[in-house]
Amino acid sequence: MANVMGVDIGGTKIRLGIIDAEGNILYDEKIPTQFPLYPYLEENVLRILAEFPDAEAIGIGTHGFVDPKEGRIIFSTEALRGWTGTKVKAQLEAASGKRVEVENDANCAALAEAKFGAAKGLERVVCLTLGTGLGGGIIWDGKLLSGGPNGGAAELGHLTLYPRGADCACGRKGCYEQYVSGTGIQRRIHEAGLEMTPLEMFQSAATDEQSNQLLEAFTYDLGIVISSLQAAFDMEMLVIGGGVSESAEYWWPQLIRQLEPLLLNPLDIQTAKFGNDAGILGAALLVLKGK
Ligand SMILES: [Zn+2]
Repeated sequence: MANVMGVDIGGTKIRLGIIDAEGNILYDEKIPTQFPLYPYLEENVLRILAEFPDAEAIGIGTHGFVDPKEGRIIFSTEALRGWTGTKVKAQLEAASGKRVEVENDANCAALAEAKFGAAKGLERVVCLTLGTGLGGGIIWDGKLLSGGPNGGAAELGHLTLYPRGADCACGRKGCYEQYVSGTGIQRRIHEAGLEMTPLEMFQSAATDEQSNQLLEAFTYDLGIVISSLQAAFDMEMLVIGGGVSESAEYWWPQLIRQLEPLLLNPLDIQTAKFGNDAGILGAALLVLKGK
């Protein structure tokens, strides 16, 4: 089966790879994000396609709200300035002569985990990406649950956890993302009067009561998030990825202990298999046939 190109677009860097049908990354390149973004993207995609002319299609995962049918960016923050409204699919298909599909990056990560990773072979999976923010991806009967009139389906980070809680970038208060994310954890550390990173807080929790309370607050909130998602989706597995998941060894037992009484039914919970590779693998999966 032919290879495809996967592209993962973030606020600081863009990763472009050539991926085969088994999910092997045959070529891998990272470039800094530059603006205006679209012409820069097209130039680099065409440059790599010239080296790999047999790549039969291009999958793109990007930060922001995406209309996956039209392959258009509905909304992106200033991290990708000028990106809002860009008809990526139409423009890049015209420029490359190849099929192009575009999706939100957290959705791509979920796709990678469900097809090649921790949830391989499962049909109903929810993936939480705990990075700077909180991304969500839902695999429903083997396919991504995405799109919507505003491109906002599966934006799990903006479900409400505390109705009068912390201000969120979306203009509302108390979203999951303000508690269950690297930024949310850092805010709570700061509010507790401490000067440390989330990792340092997790590491010191075994010996320091204040750190332990912060850790327990985080795992309790994450438990509430997971139990609410189970009530909505009754998934076979919940996968936790993103930067915060890399320190899971420090908080996993507390999460499991707090989560169990909150669940409606037993639930398999796993950390993601793919770290930084999830983005380009998931992007490639958008266009890999038979996946
Ligand atoms: Zn929000």
